[in-house]
Amino acid sequence: MKKTLVYILLLVLMFFLPAKTVDTIINNEEPKEEEEQEWVEYPFLDSTTIEKVIEPNPAIPNTTNWWEYPDKIYTTKRSGNDLLVLVNKQYKLPSSYAPSDLVSASNSGIRRGSSYSLRNILIPDLTNMVSDANSSGIDLSIVSGYRSYQTQVNTYNYWLSQNNNNVALVDTFSARPGHSQHQLGTVIDFSSNEIGDKLGDEFGNTKASKWLTQNAYRYGFVLSYPKGSETITGYKFESWHYRYIGRDSAQDMINKGLILELYLRGYNP
Ligand SMILES: [Zn+2]
Repeated sequence: MKKTLVYILLLVLMFFLPAKTVDTIINNEEPKEEEEQEWVEYPFLDSTTIEKVIEPNPAIPNTTNWWEYPDKIYTTKRSGNDLLVLVNKQYKLPSSYAPSDLVSASNSGIRRGSSYSLRNILIPDLTNMVSDANSSGIDLSIVSGYRSYQTQVNTYNYWLSQNNNNVALVDTFSARPGHSQHQLGTVIDFSSNEIGDKLGDEFGNTKASKWLTQNAYRYGFVLSYPKGSETITGYKFESWHYRYIGRDSAQDMINKGLILELYLRGYNP
């Protein structure tokens, strides 16, 4: 009889009290305000947190000309620390993003390393790659590594000034600030003593380039802008520009027969 009275009292209370208050009584805690999370931090080395998207992102539109930027540009929600973050003409990094584990590229033993920074996460694999290349009679040097957002502002403006402000031309080979993979600290522009450590198309004819084409993925490095993929990547062929995604992902990408751009789209909704 007593129990029934309590139930009736509770029912009456629930009827009269505002829903939120009842919620608070039942859950015994303050209602939480929902926050919109714009920036997701993933820990270093952990790619298991990434959910696989089955199909490459169909939302990436085709532009009239392959070098153009799409109308809609988004700031990536994934942290730049994530080795598989998609950075392209549609998805850019926030201007505030900078890797927190930058070290001198010279830690890997690569020639000209003291002039450039790279993320520490790739140093062991780069060290092995440079050492194995040297053992095979291949010389490798670095001619660009990490570039901050502000450096990329200067880089892009420099190329504009060198090309009569021809935006369409510069967009074929230089990324606008935020859109450069170099801001990740996981990208290396390679050269070799075969061409006097110059940066550019000549590299494609070197033994070093041939060796990298065949072996770089074994150390986690893959070509970002392959030959004949301009309509997909938005950039002309760059034989020298390699991005580190880790050994397992690089092997997985090769096994799937994908170029980096499509491989990354598969991980970035
Ligand atoms: Zn590059």
